[in-house]
Amino acid sequence: MKNPNGVELPAYAKINLYLDVTAREENGYHKIESVMQRVSLCDRVAVSVSREPGRSIFVRCNLPYVPRDARNIAYRAAELFMDAAGVCGSVRITLGKRIPVAGGMAGGSTDAAAVLRALNRLFGYPFGRARLTELACALGSDVPFCLRGGTAVCTGFGEIMSGVRSRTRLCLLIVTGGENVSTPWAFEMLDRYYQNFDARASGPVRLERLTAALCAGDAARAAESMYNVFDPAIFPHRPRAARAKELLLENGALGALMSGSGPTVFGVFPDTGTRFRAGAALLSEGFTVREAYTL
Ligand code: ATP
Repeated sequence: MKNPNGVELPAYAKINLYLDVTAREENGYHKIESVMQRVSLCDRVAVSVSREPGRSIFVRCNLPYVPRDARNIAYRAAELFMDAAGVCGSVRITLGKRIPVAGGMAGGSTDAAAVLRALNRLFGYPFGRARLTELACALGSDVPFCLRGGTAVCTGFGEIMSGVRSRTRLCLLIVTGGENVSTPWAFEMLDRYYQNFDARASGPVRLERLTAALCAGDAARAAESMYNVFDPAIFPHRPRAARAKELLLENGALGALMSGSGPTVFGVFPDTGTRFRAGAALLSEGFTVREAYTL
């Protein structure tokens, strides 16, 4: 039977098919230009509410090392939603995590977006799409995209989005090798590697080529046009991630990149058979692989 006080939603991960830095601000923030893409790999987010006076938020998670208090962005999403809607009650959030944690796939951000959607439904839709997006923006720069999904060109600090009508379903292998990357460290490496960001490192044509290929349904051309400014800055420090990219390309990937600031690496394959064989090669070197496709 349906529970009117509870809802369970998939919270999809993202990859960056393209990621460039266009400027570094005085305050150290980086302006980016990115093509964000929702993928089928997802966490499961269950949210239930019991109407009672006062407010309490409880988070449970299948991974013991993910924080369950206000350090968890899903917790903060619930807090923000209840503040904005002026509602009270007890909220229980259960996170079934499958997206690699701290892997550059917006795992936390997508959980937060799912909590916003779930609470909006459970409290009778107090917010429309625009207000929900404002709340998402306040939680983090990847959260609005996670709320929206699909394919989008993101600029500014990632919060300005313009949809791309992609007709391409990319066949993906997502690879992790046990290394970590913290986002602030990755940006430090980026600043050191590029010195400054007076010009786009990739050149202006490549992004347009990628979006045109996606709209035309041309997976090979899309894969060939993918780009990530972080790749050369991070790979020298993360040899497992570098090896994953090498193995993907040696085993038939049309293209391979880190997602976001890494260290998760993904490959785009021409078909599922080639992907399967590449997966076996990566497994034999101790990598964790996940099959996925773009949504
Ligand atoms: P992004 O791609 O948006 O930079 P990410 O995928 O690299 O994010 P997350 O998986 O969101 O990184 O985790 C980053 C940090 O946030 C981790 O150190 C983790 O402990 C913490 N965290 C907070 N909430 C969550 C959550 N719901 N799921 C996973 N990690 C979380």
